[in-house]
Amino acid sequence: MIDHVVIVGAGQAGGCCAQGLRRAGHAGRITLVGAERHPPYERPPLSKAVLSGAAEPSSTYLKPLAWYADNAVELRLGEQVTAIDRAARALALGGGDSLSYDALVLATGGNPRRLSVPGADLPGVVYLRDLDHTAELARRIGAGRTLVVIGGGFIGLEVAATARQAGAEVVVIEAARSLMGRTLPAVLGEHYLGLHRAHGADVVLGAAVDRISSRGERLAVVLADGREIVGDTVLAGIGLTPETTLAEAAGLEVADGVLVDHFGRTSDPAIWAIGDCARFHRPGRPDPTRLESWGHAQNHAFAAAANIAGEPRAYDDVPWAWTDQYGVNLQVAGAWDPHGEVVVRGSLTEGKAVLACLVDGAVVAAITLDSGREMRPLQRLIASARRVDPARLADPAVKLADV
Ligand SMILES: Cc1cc2nc3c(=O)[nH]c(=O)nc-3n(C[C@H](O)[C@H](O)[C@H](O)COP(=O)(O)OP(=O)(O)OC[C@H]3O[C@@H](n4cnc5c(N)ncnc54)[C@H](O)[C@@H]3O)c2cc1C
Repeated sequence: MIDHVVIVGAGQAGGCCAQGLRRAGHAGRITLVGAERHPPYERPPLSKAVLSGAAEPSSTYLKPLAWYADNAVELRLGEQVTAIDRAARALALGGGDSLSYDALVLATGGNPRRLSVPGADLPGVVYLRDLDHTAELARRIGAGRTLVVIGGGFIGLEVAATARQAGAEVVVIEAARSLMGRTLPAVLGEHYLGLHRAHGADVVLGAAVDRISSRGERLAVVLADGREIVGDTVLAGIGLTPETTLAEAAGLEVADGVLVDHFGRTSDPAIWAIGDCARFHRPGRPDPTRLESWGHAQNHAFAAAANIAGEPRAYDDVPWAWTDQYGVNLQVAGAWDPHGEVVVRGSLTEGKAVLACLVDGAVVAAITLDSGREMRPLQRLIASARRVDPARLADPAVKLADV
């Protein structure tokens, strides 16, 4: 019988796990330990509305503080878990306390991947993962300042858009030939290149960063071909490293993420892992996946919570994420296959379109550009794995629900 559930990491997945446990009827103790001093919060606004000043940091909180007290969830904020003793089922905390558990949930997220070039540790080279980073970055992106963004992925481009809208000069440096190329097909990379340039951002593609040097009060990003891009601040948005230190030290199976089965369980049956830090097996698929998205953090947490509370539930949600740049919303579901057949519905040039990727006649991934209402039926098509008629899919006169 599981009484005390301890959740390490009071982020989106950790907070949702506590909610999910109570919702699934877990009546025992719940302790949520988080290294940050904030209660669990949502990170998407950190590169958008909170960074621009349109939203308050506290608007990102998953639940008001009173919810935790009302639901008997003990919050231990500003505390770092430093070790897991699996034999004793106990945790060591940075302040010297120890905490025993019946079930342990690792929801430790990840850390921004660090630049490894010379000069990467100069003041003014920054990263974005938490509310403190957002506050620091917000001070640096006003009019008259230049922001150099290294990395043309979702987060780098969202910050670039927010900074342009705040009046800063922006240069984006991307190593690949296409923006957001890890997630999106090249045709959308082209579309976003046009969008950023139309808003006055400079974008350099296919560029390798060699080093960062001081130029008085400013910084120069020096490219491998000798070009220098000078700015006041350099933001590196080059990906995430999952936070697996505790799991590795405790001897759990880890491979770029804590390995879990489709119930969220690690190689130790008393320990679960969820959200960005976990690499999970999906029913019927050979390779485990790790996802970094709001929807996954929430739903993976709910599924693990149900399993801990004794309601077996395999997690197999269709991956889904979104990005907002210059007021344009893009959503992506499934995993885009570069060899798949591409079906376009609507018009990219008009800025409203659906793109679907078909493999063996079934939709495996879909993207909506400023057409978010189409996402639900597309997710259902992906989940069903049924073959569809590409001509009907491409025809805006045929409702997606009828495809
Ligand atoms: C700027 C930004 C914008 C984003 N925008 C989008 C978006 O538009 N759409 C989308 O789908 N996704 C977006 N995401 C991704 C999404 O926010 C993440 O996938 C999600 O936050 C992952 O939740 P998590 O709980 O797994 O990790 P986190 O939210 O990172 O939480 C992990 C927590 O664990 C704590 N922790 C780690 N180790 C310990 C320890 N040993 N002891 C105690 N505490 C510990 C950390 O301090 C952290 O608070 C964005 C992310 C960022 C950073």
